[in-house]
Amino acid sequence: TKFYKLAVIGSGSWASAIARIVGHNARHNDLFDETVMMYVRQRIFKGEKLTDIINSQHENPCYLPGFKLPDNIFAVSDVVEAARNSDIIIFVMPHKFVKQTCTPLIGQIKPYSIGVSLIKSFDVDDSGEIRLVSDWLRKNLNIDVSVLMGANIAHEVAAEFLCEATLGTYDEQVGNILKQLFETDYFKVTMSTDLSTIELCGALKNIVALASGCVDGLGYGNNTKAAVIRLGLTEMIKFAQWFYPKAKLETFFQSCGVADLLTTCYGGRNRRLAEAFVRTRQKLNELEAEMLEGQKLQGPETADAVHRVLKKQNLEEHFPLFVVVNKIFTGQLPPTELITCVRHHPQFR
Ligand code: NAD
Ligand code: 13P
Repeated sequence: TKFYKLAVIGSGSWASAIARIVGHNARHNDLFDETVMMYVRQRIFKGEKLTDIINSQHENPCYLPGFKLPDNIFAVSDVVEAARNSDIIIFVMPHKFVKQTCTPLIGQIKPYSIGVSLIKSFDVDDSGEIRLVSDWLRKNLNIDVSVLMGANIAHEVAAEFLCEATLGTYDEQVGNILKQLFETDYFKVTMSTDLSTIELCGALKNIVALASGCVDGLGYGNNTKAAVIRLGLTEMIKFAQWFYPKAKLETFFQSCGVADLLTTCYGGRNRRLAEAFVRTRQKLNELEAEMLEGQKLQGPETADAVHRVLKKQNLEEHFPLFVVVNKIFTGQLPPTELITCVRHHPQFR
């Protein structure tokens, strides 16, 4: 008997690539209802509503052009309609839109539905406390929330190039269901219970990706970039273990850790725009609008959140790479300061 009803909340690049996987598995696994609801923030594309295009042409030309979506994906522009009857709700949108998009869901979804967050960033509140996206969803929607993070550049996943991801769940039974929902022969899933570390990895690697793009923009080579990635990884580990003392080192060796760090530092949007920022000195938000056509960077706001928590807790000197990235990309320091930062990193003292 078909059982779990599914919803994808989001319609961006990654949302569309994961919808291809989920739509395929929903059709081929009796555990899931075949129809996958997709919340699409309405947009007009060439005179037509994006929801109508997705439902008739089975493609998302705004955010994932050139790849077909399965025809069991049903796009709606009302978020409550998408999620109301769902048993599994996949949250996948740029972090800054989570609250405005998901607040209408409060009190409107099934109480025992299973949430999964694919969102790579976090908030820091006024008291300097880290607020993970999954924490916000859990608290406000009153549901269990797992996380899925990994080395998964959306258009490569859509092209069905082999990759892997890390699924973090508290409950083994939920983990087994979600593994069946996400895994395909080209998208391999490993499981872990170290949820906060998985989520922190997904967020923090985007700061290192900005640094990598900066190395490229400055015209330095692979060795410098490798040094930046290595130092970035040490700061990621230190940060996670400082704020979440139970963070496991082994999680950094999963797809959500080094693998995502590497792919994003070579092939991601944060890297690409950071390089353009350094070369052109144009504002980052202008470059985002020009180069990404509605897709969003997560690195700059994560760097800002991390810098705020470090300042608040007087820890700036222990995370010089994270701090210098925020200062460079907010225009407080010239990009060459990244090189100075690496040269004088505490690792060399
Ligand atoms: P995206 O960067 O393609 O952004 C487009 C999405 O933002 C669309 O759903 C759009 O409706 C929404 N949006 C744009 N303007 C908005 C506004 N003013 N208000 C509300 N919503 C608005 O999104 P994505 O690639 O699906 O990324 C979602 C999350 O997944 C991010 O946290 C990202 O880090 C993560 N992720 C992305 C990739 C990737 O390769 N794209 C891979 C893995 C994880
Ligand atoms: P970008 O947002 O920098 O493209 O990174 C995508 C990603 O998270 C790959 O796993």
